[in-house]
Amino acid sequence: MNRYTTIIIGGGLGGLLCGILLSKKGQKVCILEKHKHVGGNLQGFTRKGEYFDTGMHYIGTHKPGSILHKVFEIFGANEFLDTQDLDSNGFDTISFRGKDYKFAVGFENFEKQMIDYFPSEKDGIIRYVKTIRDIYKSLSIDTIFNPILENQHLCESAYEFISSCTSNEALQNVLAGNSPLYAGEKSITSLYMHALISGFYIEGAARFVGGSHQFAEKLAAQITENGGCVKTDCEIVSLNIKDSKISSCTDTKGTVYEAESFVSSIHPAVLMKIIPETGLRKAYQKRIENLKNTTGIFTVYAVMKPDTFPYINSNFYVYRNNDVWLSKETESDTFPSSYIFMTSAQTKQQQFAKTIKIMTYMNFEQVRRWENTLKKKRGEDYENFKIQKAEQILQAVGEKFEGFREKVQEYYTSSPLTFRDYTATPEGSIYGIVRDFHKQAESYIPVRTKIPNLFLTGQNINLHGILGVSIVSLLSCSAVLGYNIRE
Ligand SMILES: Cc1cc2nc3c(=O)[nH]c(=O)nc-3n(C[C@H](O)[C@H](O)[C@H](O)COP(=O)(O)OP(=O)(O)OC[C@H]3O[C@@H](n4cnc5c(N)ncnc54)[C@H](O)[C@@H]3O)c2cc1C
Repeated sequence: MNRYTTIIIGGGLGGLLCGILLSKKGQKVCILEKHKHVGGNLQGFTRKGEYFDTGMHYIGTHKPGSILHKVFEIFGANEFLDTQDLDSNGFDTISFRGKDYKFAVGFENFEKQMIDYFPSEKDGIIRYVKTIRDIYKSLSIDTIFNPILENQHLCESAYEFISSCTSNEALQNVLAGNSPLYAGEKSITSLYMHALISGFYIEGAARFVGGSHQFAEKLAAQITENGGCVKTDCEIVSLNIKDSKISSCTDTKGTVYEAESFVSSIHPAVLMKIIPETGLRKAYQKRIENLKNTTGIFTVYAVMKPDTFPYINSNFYVYRNNDVWLSKETESDTFPSSYIFMTSAQTKQQQFAKTIKIMTYMNFEQVRRWENTLKKKRGEDYENFKIQKAEQILQAVGEKFEGFREKVQEYYTSSPLTFRDYTATPEGSIYGIVRDFHKQAESYIPVRTKIPNLFLTGQNINLHGILGVSIVSLLSCSAVLGYNIRE
């Protein structure tokens, strides 16, 4: 009999974290994942023996005492993270107008290094770093449970704050140089989002070793050990309602799963499509369906000729234009107007890069003409489109790292269509729902719904990334259990 205490739809980070905590609390939990593997954006793929991460690749600090470590302590998941610290003098390198600026680990070091680059901007840099640190440090296990909308910095603009610290355009851009971590847009990104993510990485940045999929697999194994189950190849196509509550859900094969509570970690707009019309108010459904999503991404996964390109313990954010923020204008610039370049860590001591990932923003409009095609069957014109884009990217990388193209043995690519089909995110959006500081209340989605036993979790609820999704998972589990998880 497929009957559980809680069923979790979707086995990405959000679903797995909820699964681990609820099963630890003694619930009989079952995770139902559409894809062949768990992980969602923690998935990777292997070609000819080489492994590639597709989504999450590096995280901020998870050292004892950090917020992530404390949150993971509650899940019992700290031991599952296998990472390597990135270069403490430059975990990220921002390449802007032909010059490299390194982000140092630690607020003091970061400040000092920025002052070295921009000595005349000392006062503004000090103010910037203090504000970022204060906002980031205000996040604690206690404040996590405060209503997120109470934070004043959610309604302030990141761009305007940075501009108030310095009028130096290069410095303004450098400080926001790793804004692709949150698809930052000048006109909508809040200071809170910028500060939380920047502060998290400045305090310590680390890369997954051997692939982020291992983390997902360890979480799934622990759920099974706790008495729960994880079913893959199990796409949920309907939620069934009885007496104003969700009684069960059904997968594509017609199998029915019953539970007392249901947690959805899938994109809320996708959830709206599988809930019966009687389930939620029309106005709520419409609001969710109309929320804007973040942009998509095009990735080149390069296999390097042996011992030709060094392993670099830093992520490069390379800008070929004059503005680091995402905007319609930057999208139409010469492609790629910017890209992220990362050598992958297969082991902890690595001299040469075996594989390299290069990512650039790509709006869904660029691939819309193939939106009704299936994976691996999109046709020759799509394959040619991808080759053309990949070659443009490799050429751009060659402008930064001389002779790069010749060192690439072969490559694979993914587009927003790939993400749409592997994670079921509308239009292959990278981080799900857009957060606009002008409309915080509108884009805010609570973990509880009007259906008393249906809860939400995952990157679309509040914040994406390892930190955001972990915090949301704590809130979702507290709502399911009916008490603050800390008590
Ligand atoms: C390219 C890229 C790079 C990133 N880099 C970083 C990074 O460096 N650091 C960082 O912290 N974050 C990063 N992120 C963000 C981070 O990966 C995500 O925020 C996080 O993994 C989202 O987890 P989730 O569980 O909310 O959603 P997802 O990972 O999307 O999981 C949802 C799951 O639900 C499943 N599903 C969907 N529909 C159904 C259905 N009907 N039935 C059953 N299952 C279903 C999907 O298959 C999927 O497995 C990156 C994301 C992307 C795309």
